[in-house]
Amino acid sequence: MAKDRLTEVLERYEAVIGLEIHTELTALNSKMFCGCPVEFGGEPNTRVCPVCLGLPGALPVPNEAAVEATVLAGLALDCEIARFSQFHRKQYFYPDMPKDYQISQYDLPFCGLGYLDIEIDADGAAQRVDLDGGAYATRIGITRIHLEEDTGKMIHVGGAEGRISGADHSLVDFNRAGTPLMELVTEPDIRTPEEARRFAQKLRLIMLNLGVSDCSMEEGSMRVDGNVSVRLRGKTGLGTKTEVKNMNSFRALHDALAYEIVRQADVLDEGGRIVQETRHWDVGAKRTSTLRSKEEAHDYRYFPEPDMVPFEFTSEWIESIRARLPELPDARRERFMLEFGLSRSDARALSEDADFAGYFEEAVAIAGVVLAKPLANWALGEFSAYLNAGSVAVSEAKVTPAMLAELVELIDAGTISGKQAKAVFAEMVASGDAPGGIVELRGMKQVSDVGAIEAAVDRVIAASPDEVAEYRSGKTALLGWFVGQVMREMRGQGNPALVNEILVKKMG
Ligand code: ADP
Ligand code: MG
Ligand code: ZN
Repeated sequence: MAKDRLTEVLERYEAVIGLEIHTELTALNSKMFCGCPVEFGGEPNTRVCPVCLGLPGALPVPNEAAVEATVLAGLALDCEIARFSQFHRKQYFYPDMPKDYQISQYDLPFCGLGYLDIEIDADGAAQRVDLDGGAYATRIGITRIHLEEDTGKMIHVGGAEGRISGADHSLVDFNRAGTPLMELVTEPDIRTPEEARRFAQKLRLIMLNLGVSDCSMEEGSMRVDGNVSVRLRGKTGLGTKTEVKNMNSFRALHDALAYEIVRQADVLDEGGRIVQETRHWDVGAKRTSTLRSKEEAHDYRYFPEPDMVPFEFTSEWIESIRARLPELPDARRERFMLEFGLSRSDARALSEDADFAGYFEEAVAIAGVVLAKPLANWALGEFSAYLNAGSVAVSEAKVTPAMLAELVELIDAGTISGKQAKAVFAEMVASGDAPGGIVELRGMKQVSDVGAIEAAVDRVIAASPDEVAEYRSGKTALLGWFVGQVMREMRGQGNPALVNEILVKKMG
């Protein structure tokens, strides 16, 4: 679907979007109400026990770490933390839950009203520079965050895209059943697919920084459902919404919402009405289709979980969880701008991942704040490229913060040129050796000796009379070619600034 269709529709209609985001607490080592391990995959139905299989007489015991993680997430998002809270049973008939009900939260969730501020760039593309020139920030309200248990996984065999309709038979895997699952619901404050994407991305970064989940969209440990309606610009009140499921990437979330906004506008333009329903995003066909209509809506018959006492949180306990809040990406970005004088975009890119930010800070501590800017360039450039190319974790990187600091110091001291430094970096990655040793061993030191450079320049001028004549007759663009020739004479070790200067002087 062309992007301009969305732009055109959004001139007449305003989109209203609310997200429901499920995050599996994969970083905790057990399920929500039993001690079974939490891990993606595994032979079907091997990570189960009487509790998560719902066998009669098995008693669920809440996972304390999961309760703490949910409250920690709530505090990170400025939510109100409940003083009194409770689990409820949500009844439904579908074979993905062996108990025929899911333990969830209903009217007494752990976390109430909160918010998250997101930034959108002028061209709608997230993660770019400053908040000037048309960029903006907007506050998205959070309605609630509650804790529940994940369901098992159904595999529908023979149906289109693994959907139940048309399936020949279905298989069920209870390994996932009972995994601690945090559900966050936003207010309908989101206005564009780009804002929705940005919200989900930022939430993911926060969860990763809190260390509660691996937040993998592909493996389903972070799942985003989009509720969306449209209304004519200038109108207040909410239109009928649809809910889109099955988006397993941020791009899919964006595209599914964009598709749905245009589809709803087309229906309304033709005088039709929107049917409240749940729709499925087909990534291949790039369209949504009806999954189930609201008329089939279940009555979940919630009632308080009788096997568990309610929770009463004291303010001391809440404060003890608050004390565990790590520095989050926004605060870290502001600090990097202030302490290191970095641009907003560099500071943002460096501060998203806690390990990466820690690596950078360690390198700055060694090389000194004056070298923060070149260190940022190297960390975001060569170092990131090296990590990405080999899917290397920061903690496993062969190039340590001390090595990167030393490399930047060598450039700063004029010992090696920036170009030589790239070759040294490649060698550091290959051998794990420190840059000083590599420079020494390879005789890579940059030559700044004026006499040596002049001699090389003279040799090049003498060997290229035609080019010299062309240059002198005005084709000054040839200078780059001359620099290359001199560098070759000097085995790449000439100080580039001096080579330039001496060439210009001698040929002028
Ligand atoms: P439901 O009962 O259908 O689950 P909720 O009231 O629980 O609906 O809201 C679910 C999500 O849908 C929330 O994120 C909420 O902000 C959003 N939402 C509610 N009404 C609308 C609407 N008319 N248009 C867009 N989003 C909406
Ligand atoms: Mg709901
Ligand atoms: Zn179990």
